[in-house]
Amino acid sequence: MADGRTTLYPMVQFKKDTWEIDEFDCASMFLLVGSEKAMLIDTGMGVGDIRGAIEMITDKPLIVVLTHGHIDHTGNAVQFSEVWMHSADRYFEIPASADNRRKKTAIIAQRAKGSLGSPYTLFPLYPYDPDTDIVDPEDPSKLVIRDLTDGQQFDLGDRVVTVYECPGHTPGEVVLLDEKTRSLFAGDAISYNQICRCAPLPEAVKALKRLEALSDRYDGIYNGHHDFRALGAPLDDDCLPDMIALMEDAIRGTAAPCVCSNFWGDRLPLAGRKSGKAPESERAHPTEKYLRRGRCFLRLSL
Ligand SMILES: [Zn+2]
Repeated sequence: MADGRTTLYPMVQFKKDTWEIDEFDCASMFLLVGSEKAMLIDTGMGVGDIRGAIEMITDKPLIVVLTHGHIDHTGNAVQFSEVWMHSADRYFEIPASADNRRKKTAIIAQRAKGSLGSPYTLFPLYPYDPDTDIVDPEDPSKLVIRDLTDGQQFDLGDRVVTVYECPGHTPGEVVLLDEKTRSLFAGDAISYNQICRCAPLPEAVKALKRLEALSDRYDGIYNGHHDFRALGAPLDDDCLPDMIALMEDAIRGTAAPCVCSNFWGDRLPLAGRKSGKAPESERAHPTEKYLRRGRCFLRLSL
């Protein structure tokens, strides 16, 4: 506990020198260790001391890459002096305030544990204290954000990681290919619960098809949350092709809107919305549409 916050993240070394670190169901972070340097992919919502946790695994110089600018991937970026992110995501607030991160963390904790009602909400669900483990940085202005570009490579020493732009979930979303372990780290670009609101669908499909065409270089896709997969396990093979097919259906206008908003179910709270007790008219988001194919849900902005 270098700074007093928890370092007790569930984590697993699922391939040699490759860890998935679970930020208490909020987000997944990945640590790749090469012979000379290490890479951290994403920094979570900022619950606990991720830097302290990494120092228990490696003392190699660390490269920190953010797959995109969302709050649950950038929350602890300020624990590091320099991070890499695509310039198209610079409009996000990084880091978001501790208050905002506490609110989002509480929503995710409730969702991940099945939206337990009273009296179970009186008991802590996770081994952290939001008041002490989610804090504002002393000086956020010290953080240097450097621009990622498509095709950029990071050499960790006998292990090269390549950046691919993948706009859709956000305009500056990227994925990272580690050919040594044949792993594709997808952030939120590929998942069973996809939100595509920041790039035109044809552009998003084109980016995903490019990743599909690279499939002879990887045999596991690891997204930035481990919903629908176990910690350290890849997404199933249906995820990427079904997501592409669903987006193509949406472009053609042949996808039928689904009743359930997404796999959380319409009774469970969604970020920034009213709880399941609110009237239907208040739960529905008038500018979004929900589509489903197999296990894939796609939330589109209209
Ligand atoms: Zn995201």
